[in-house]
Amino acid sequence: MQLEHLPEEFEMARPVLQTIEQAGYEAYFVGGSVRDTILGKEIHDVDIATSAYPDEIKHLFKRTVDTGIEHGTVMILDHGTGYETTTFRSESTYTDFRRPDQVTFVRSLAEDLKRRDFTINALAMKEDGTVIDLFDGLADLKHRQICAVGDPQERFHEDALRMMRAVRFASQLNFTIVPETLAAMTSHAELLRKIAVERTQVELLKLLTGQAPQQGLTDLLTTGLWQYCPDFADHKADLERLTAQLHQGASTDLTAWTLLTTSFGLETNAITTFLKHWKTANQTISAVQMTTKTAQHLLQGPLSTWQVYQCGEDQLMIANEAAVVLGATDRSRELIAQWQNLPIQTKKALAVTGRDLMQAGVQPGPQLGAILGDLEYQVVTGKLPNEKSALVAAVTD
Ligand code: ATP
Ligand code: MG
Repeated sequence: MQLEHLPEEFEMARPVLQTIEQAGYEAYFVGGSVRDTILGKEIHDVDIATSAYPDEIKHLFKRTVDTGIEHGTVMILDHGTGYETTTFRSESTYTDFRRPDQVTFVRSLAEDLKRRDFTINALAMKEDGTVIDLFDGLADLKHRQICAVGDPQERFHEDALRMMRAVRFASQLNFTIVPETLAAMTSHAELLRKIAVERTQVELLKLLTGQAPQQGLTDLLTTGLWQYCPDFADHKADLERLTAQLHQGASTDLTAWTLLTTSFGLETNAITTFLKHWKTANQTISAVQMTTKTAQHLLQGPLSTWQVYQCGEDQLMIANEAAVVLGATDRSRELIAQWQNLPIQTKKALAVTGRDLMQAGVQPGPQLGAILGDLEYQVVTGKLPNEKSALVAAVTD
């Protein structure tokens, strides 16, 4: 197969491949960008695989960065774009189920493609658009299926993250996992325990924000992988319900977390525990606490003005999206109107400051904060106008 029209990103990178080839080495486009181009999807980063060793690449180009030299990856900087260029490698043994014990550079493309996870990810493309397909990846793309390269049992035993990648691609691409690969995932699911949570998290979020989350979630459930996701163990029924309800991907990672915490019925402290086990950023924890609380309210009915104010505009939309998935009425228009009609949208917009109150005779100290907080509430809920004189008068009279 030869692609006639290469996307702009590949066209731009052709001279890089040509330079490597002119020096007597092989160079190919590999990975997700080749797969996505054949699927007619947009591509993000262009990855290059080459028979040249990292120091050979560095000799060929003026500007390079050692982004992962121990794995054979050098970034070539060309006209403002960076190209990750990785020497062909074969990965030998994986005694800890997550990282190869050693990386061996090889000169053969076939060796390099053999160690890749799925046939659809094991395609290579020459700079002229010729596709090299050693594992029937093109047929699998055509049949919209995910199939491990080689013996699936061995491949998941080598690297258990691949099982999460399989369910993630099932959702992102709306593909089915072929029976043999799915069976190997079922028998190896427990090995997911060995994988760093941060890496599982990346795949889970890509699954939930993918185009066919029902597909990915169904595979997560049927293979048993869900049991080895932090704090999922007690929530099989919730996950099944969410699977039935989630007809399209969550629009943001925050929505994805909110869907989980809301369907699991988690309260503030439980959300902290849950997200800490998933090793998210602290910022995510406070945001999800707010969106979850708001989504829970939305499942009961409309929000009060104060609830709208406290949640904040972006988080309101996330809470609404999650609540709608879980069966609430879509209140987005109403919420936007409520937000726009707020007398103030942030604390900063309050017409008095602590300094103003002190000048009017209020003593500094913790009560000052409480008074300000009360004024904020009175203004937001329309009980007091947002005017300095009225607010000062309300506390000093
Ligand atoms: P995305 O569009 O999400 O970037 P991708 O297929 O490019 O998808 P990457 O994680 O960027 O995924 O990896 C690039 C390529 O490296 C993959 O297409 C695959 O060939 C190979 N690969 C990545 N992770 C693994 C793994 N755990 N085991 C085997 N091969 C892998
Ligand atoms: Mg990629």
